[in-house]
Amino acid sequence: MDMKTQGMPLDGLLTVDRDRLWNSLMEQGKIGETDKGGLNRQALTDLDRQVRELFISWGKEAGCEVSIDQIGNIFVRRPGVDNSLPPVMTGSHIDTQPTGGKFDGCFGVMAGLESIRRMNDLGIKTQAPVEVVAWTNEEGCRFPPCMMGSGVFTGEFELEPTLAIRDAEGISVGEALTKIGFAGEKPVPGHPVGAYFEAHIEQGPVLEDAEKTIGVVIGALGQKWFDLSIQGVESHAGPTPMSLRHDAGLVAAELITFVNRTALEHAPHGRGTVGCLDLFPGSRNVIPGQVNMTVDFRHLEADALDAMVNGLKAKIAELEALHGVQVSLTPTADFAPLYFADNCVSYVRDAAAGLGYGHMDIVSGAGHDAIFLAEKAPAGMIFVPCEGGISHNEMERADADDLAAGASVLLNALVNAAGIEEAK
Ligand SMILES: [Zn+2]
Repeated sequence: MDMKTQGMPLDGLLTVDRDRLWNSLMEQGKIGETDKGGLNRQALTDLDRQVRELFISWGKEAGCEVSIDQIGNIFVRRPGVDNSLPPVMTGSHIDTQPTGGKFDGCFGVMAGLESIRRMNDLGIKTQAPVEVVAWTNEEGCRFPPCMMGSGVFTGEFELEPTLAIRDAEGISVGEALTKIGFAGEKPVPGHPVGAYFEAHIEQGPVLEDAEKTIGVVIGALGQKWFDLSIQGVESHAGPTPMSLRHDAGLVAAELITFVNRTALEHAPHGRGTVGCLDLFPGSRNVIPGQVNMTVDFRHLEADALDAMVNGLKAKIAELEALHGVQVSLTPTADFAPLYFADNCVSYVRDAAAGLGYGHMDIVSGAGHDAIFLAEKAPAGMIFVPCEGGISHNEMERADADDLAAGASVLLNALVNAAGIEEAK
């Protein structure tokens, strides 16, 4: 056991079976395994079918009822004492990126399953049912958008248009669901949820850097994305003096550094990224006449996010005047910042503290199914470190002790939220 996870659990706190969790993760990780030890298991492929069937068989072995909804989300339900109560839910996704790892998403589903197995071991009865969900197509790489299953479950996306979305080969979501036998009947939007928890690898370097085992996720960064097009004048690099240019490339460079500086000025939660940049005509002795680029701004506070965007607009106006160019700024995505429910955050923080795990409050910079679920029910997330903060990569790695710690926090949060009745 490493320094991070040292500590004795307080009375009444539960821990999962570390090896059983790890073995389940490794076993599901054989389905679609790549040469480099990652996974290529894209949504609604035959490999996705295989891991879905494995998950269902494990759920049934744990004595749970299994149901599938119209977008293929799988619900594994452990009955409670009072089954008229909405279930306390946990889950994540088992589809991956083409060069994905074995932990992104899969950890959350396997941690939920391990929580149920542990409740069985200990004869725990919860008041409300506990449900483990595998959401369809969280990654969105074969069929955009991402978080498709949780989006349809929560009513964020409508069923029919979603079923009609096609992949690069022209196969629709509806056709793919039918082909793998997962076009379920349970209606969407789905049933009420008492509370939702999701355990996930951090996919960033913060926990590892701070040497903490558990990230208590307090919220998710809001996001504003833009396409930006700069219109200058292409001209010969030799005969055109510096003072008489309308250099779209130079304006792009100024904007890249401005985006970076703006995010730094809004620390610690500001993020600013220019991820795409195309210069035209792309000739070494021609001044760029046009640039197409993207801007991705994120922040935990709506006001700060607005201030970052307003700063960009002011900078654009200044650069247009200075360089005689025209800039168009087109919004392409807009997600409001999110704060998870206080009671769910407390369940997570109290469990981490009680179990003696090093923990810290953290924000999610990425999208997760929990973000849609938070619209429907009180929700919270648990992060554990991943090696080097690397994810969406075959080299993705996580430590078995850290994963067990995250799953133990999840187990306590689920039991507390569902209400416990000790076995006689
Ligand atoms: Zn994920």
